[in-house]
Parts: sequence; structure tokens; C-alpha cells
Amino acid sequence: MAITGILASAGCSAAEETPRAAAPKPFAVSDQVSRTMDTLKTMPSVASALRFLEQDHQNTITEQIALSEIPSPPFKEDRRAADYQRRLTELGLENVRRDATGNVYGVRRGTGGGPTLFVSAHLDTVFPEGTDVKVTQRDGKLYGPGIADDANGLSAVLSVVRALRDSGIQTKGDIIFGGTVGEEGLGDLRGVKAFFAENPDVDGFITIEPGDVKKVVYQATGSRRYKFSFTGPGGHSFGDFGRPSAIGAMGRAIARIDELRPPAQPKTTFTVGVVDGGTSVNAISGTASMQVDMRSNGPAELDGLERQLVPMAQAGADDENARWNAAAGKGITVKKELIGDRPAGDQPAQSPIVEASFAASTALGLAASLGEASSTDANLPINKGIPAVRLGGGGDDGNTHSFTDPEWFDPKDSHLGPQRVFLTALALTGAPGLDPLLPQHRP
Ligand SMILES: [Zn+2]
Repeated sequence: MAITGILASAGCSAAEETPRAAAPKPFAVSDQVSRTMDTLKTMPSVASALRFLEQDHQNTITEQIALSEIPSPPFKEDRRAADYQRRLTELGLENVRRDATGNVYGVRRGTGGGPTLFVSAHLDTVFPEGTDVKVTQRDGKLYGPGIADDANGLSAVLSVVRALRDSGIQTKGDIIFGGTVGEEGLGDLRGVKAFFAENPDVDGFITIEPGDVKKVVYQATGSRRYKFSFTGPGGHSFGDFGRPSAIGAMGRAIARIDELRPPAQPKTTFTVGVVDGGTSVNAISGTASMQVDMRSNGPAELDGLERQLVPMAQAGADDENARWNAAAGKGITVKKELIGDRPAGDQPAQSPIVEASFAASTALGLAASLGEASSTDANLPINKGIPAVRLGGGGDDGNTHSFTDPEWFDPKDSHLGPQRVFLTALALTGAPGLDPLLPQHRP
């Protein structure tokens, strides 16, 4: 029997801009995936592993706190990575290593002939060096920078490994478990990029991020970020009047950019997020710079927006130079710098990895749904055509990435996160008597 559920809106803010049909579209899981999940549920070893995961809850929370209290600022994940490497090693994974980029991972071998799945969470946080990362507890909730994002995911990965070890269940395919660096902001997915460059045979990917255990996120919002620097002769506001201004050129560029009309579907957006420039109120500015963020759920739309937007910086300078009749070599010049590149991507919702994740939620008695696109480590494989999903680590959370309000995590029922990942991973890599759902892309 097919499992059905509700297809959530493809993006909450997109829905605000473009009213969508009120009736949600039902999502049905294929018979093969339903059968696989039904079989898994009836296996005594699986039932006992699910009970183990529930009983492992307190261990998982203890590890989540311990990991969260090891600072892991952008580009400085070393300490947490070393600790995570030790934990993965102690859990008996094979070949646990730290690669040249800083990712840590090890493998749990299958019986052979199955696909390889990578299950990970990210080691980095958005919080800079020096941030107080002490975790406090109040009214059943945990507070601390990064306690949810992504100490929740990191501890969920460990709990899943423990359950596999405890149950002794043999998968057909190999499962690689680990933590990646550089997921956040200017980290620019450098960890997951390096992982897939070095492990091109990996067939599927699950990233565990804080979030609920009902949604399956399978679409990737890509982003491209530029810094444009405008430079000119500068001068005194009175004495040198008539020279072009770097701020003037940038203002003209921003006015052009602001007139862009990107498509509503797939959702495509832009913003000039940061501007800087000038030295004094009575000076013609000789320098100015802006940072621009472009995002889209569609790779072609992101490329299209970039093709339109990037030349606008130079056009702003050209306009400014023409307005002031700047002589050759005396005008405003523009330098562009790519400061972020997170690929966009999509995959069919009716694919084994999405359906297996969905069916796993249903199997746990949860009202599964397809979630809105997001920007995580999963972007990279999705863009490359490798099946990947983002699954929630369980519990509830808030104020993630906030520098003003404390990030919090509510551990109530958070064992459901590892339970769902466990079921999904088994369905994808195959258990005794069960063929793996995840296709192998190598011969
Ligand atoms: Zn995260």
C-alpha cells in the first residue's frame, strides 16, 4: 500500500509573493519503497535498534552538549574535528580519517554489492572565535551558540552509528559517517565539495541539520555572492568638483540592480547586503564597495541572474564616468570578486532517497511532508545529480545563527531524528533479505 502525505508549499516567502492553490498536493510513495519500509519495521533487529535509539536519547544529548561546548568558528573547526574523529573511532568505524580540508569520516562496511551512502552533519558554526559557547539549561531547554546548528546533527550521526553497532545489522552497501567543515556562510561548502571530489563513487547523501523529523528537504537553493570594489581619483568636494565618484558609480550600479525582475518560480532573489565607502563628508569618494547576494532554486535561473547583474557594476561606473566626462585613465574602475558559490539543484520528488525518507517518517507515526528548498551541504551532491536529502536531527530549536537572542534546543522526543535517519539509511543501503533502494552510479 502506498504511503501518502501532504506536499508542503515550496517556500514560505515565495508563497507570500505568489498565492498558490489552497489544496495541498498529496505525495504518494511507490509500492517498492512502502514494501521495503514495511519489511524493515517487522524485522526484530530493527525494532530493537529503534528501541535502542530511544534509550540512547540521554547519551545523545550529553554528546550534543559536549560537542557544542568545543568552539568551532568558521575556518577553525580543528578542535571539534579532532574530538569528533575520536568519537567516530571509538564507535568502531573503519579507516576514520581527517582529510586535507578538515572533514572527518569513517566507514561502516556493508556485506558488499550495494550502494555507498554518506551520512553527515557539519562541524562549523557561524560564531566567531571568542564566543562563549557554554551550554546552559533552563525549563527543559538547552541554550548555547550552535547547540542546535549543528551539534544536534553531529550527535544524531553518532547515535545512528551506535544503533547499528548495537543491533549488529549488516547493510549491503557501505555507509560513511562523518562531519564536514565549511558549511556555513563564507565556508562556502568547502568541506562537502572536497569530500565529493575525493569520493566520486558515493551514491547518496544525507545531511542532518536541526529541524523537525516530518519534513524531507530535497531541493537546493543555490547562491552566488560577489564583492564589487569601485576605485577612482577621489578629491576635495569643492576644489576637485567635476571628478567622478566611486560612491556615485556604485549608487548608479545599485539603482540598476534594484530594477531587476528575477523569476518567481523557481524562486530567484538578490540583495545588495553590505555597502562601504568614502572617507569624509567633504570628499569625492575614491573608494566604495558592495557585497551582493543572489539566490535561486534553479541553476539556470541563478546563472541568468548573474549574467544580468554582474555587468551592472561596470555599467554604473561607465555612467558615472560619462556624466563627468572623465578622461581616459581618470575614471572609476571596478574590480569584482566571487566571495560565495553554493550550487543550486533539483531532483525528482519521486526518487528513492526522497521516498525512503518520507516513508521513514510515516513509519514512525509522523505526518510526513516535503519541505521547502534550503541551502546546506546537500546542495553540492544535488547539483551533481547525486541523490541527497536534508533531514532534521529531531527536537525543536530556535534563534539559530542569532548573535542577539540565545540559540536554543528542546530535546523533547529528539530520538525521532536518529530513528528516521536509521530507517532511511537501512532502506537505501539494504538489509538482510532486502535489496537497497539507492541506485549505484558506478558500474
Ligand atoms: Zn546548519
